[in-house]
Amino acid sequence: MASFLNFPPQLARALFSFKMPRQAHKPIGELALIEQIRRTFSTGTSRSHTVTLGIGDDCAILRAPSGHEILVTTDFSLENRHFRRNLHPSPSVGHRCLARGLSDLAAMGATPIAAFLSLALPPDLLHSRKGRSWIDGFFAGLRSLAQQHRTPLAGGDTSESPADLILADIILIGSAPRGRSLRRSGARPGDALYVTGALGGAHAELSALLAANRPSRATSSQHHPHLFPQPRLAIGSTLLRRRIASASIDLSDGLSTDLTHLCESSRVRAEIDAGSIPFHPLTHLLPPEEALHAALHGGEDYELLFAASSTKRVPRQIAGVPITRIGTLHRTRPGKPLVSLHHPGKGSSELKPAGWQHFS
Ligand code: ADP
Ligand code: MG
Repeated sequence: MASFLNFPPQLARALFSFKMPRQAHKPIGELALIEQIRRTFSTGTSRSHTVTLGIGDDCAILRAPSGHEILVTTDFSLENRHFRRNLHPSPSVGHRCLARGLSDLAAMGATPIAAFLSLALPPDLLHSRKGRSWIDGFFAGLRSLAQQHRTPLAGGDTSESPADLILADIILIGSAPRGRSLRRSGARPGDALYVTGALGGAHAELSALLAANRPSRATSSQHHPHLFPQPRLAIGSTLLRRRIASASIDLSDGLSTDLTHLCESSRVRAEIDAGSIPFHPLTHLLPPEEALHAALHGGEDYELLFAASSTKRVPRQIAGVPITRIGTLHRTRPGKPLVSLHHPGKGSSELKPAGWQHFS
């Protein structure tokens, strides 16, 4: 066994006199960027009663409203996996980055408290004029959605990326009345199944973008279900407050996949009716088979899928968004598929989870 006593004295001296190298100063580019972020987000998005201390110190300080508990979700957006610089305008990248986490909060009926953003940006973005304008656009898109949903940016981290790839990691903190968050697991046999808004639009818009293969010039958040999806926070909190939903999930991976998750968590099976699925108007650009595929399997619509007891009165619309009944949940039975799709006049078939993975 090696003995510490046998350590050569020079080595021991070297080891014990070893000092941690002083931490390298943050490059000025990063400091300037943090200052830009602080200024950009200092007005219009704050919720001062829940964020006691925001950007500028070692930690942020948050306060949950009394009687509420904290919900946390995190999503990262990686260039060429979740977006492409040559297709997506930078405001859309900023918007989508935040929309994903807000949609998770919406699914559970939560209200946003704060967002945290960790960014790794390639050198050319930090040091070229074109790059800086990409960054400005990214923050403009993020800020506009943050403002709409009163979500302050309360901190983050910033670094130059050693690779030529953008990575934006967002953490969202929200709150909901204690013990009342909507989960995937609360649905019961006999419950009816609903979706908000319309399906397949995000897939249809992305297909058009990929076919055009040039940057979109879209700037407005209206009518761009892929570039500027609208998280359904008002609907989620209404479903919770009015005790309408027994279970809920957001449609990030496609109806077939997300409904399967809900059924597995709630230990029920679903029968849905193809004739009742609300198609997004953009799917009319696709051949009929592809439109159905977009609505069933195209991801990223960020609508809510929820279950409600058949005794509940479910409004036809909430916050101006239509609510459509698409099916019913049943007790699981050996030999019966977890999700089956009924085609009017043609019988039923099993709907396997086949959510679409972008760019994979
Ligand atoms: P530390 O070195 O103590 O981690 P930083 O210098 O990284 O602090 O950050 C200083 C402040 O700026 C912190 O409050 C941090 O949360 C905030 N910050 C840094 N990067 C970002 C970012 N990308 N978005 C929002 N806030 C950020
Ligand atoms: Mg610190």
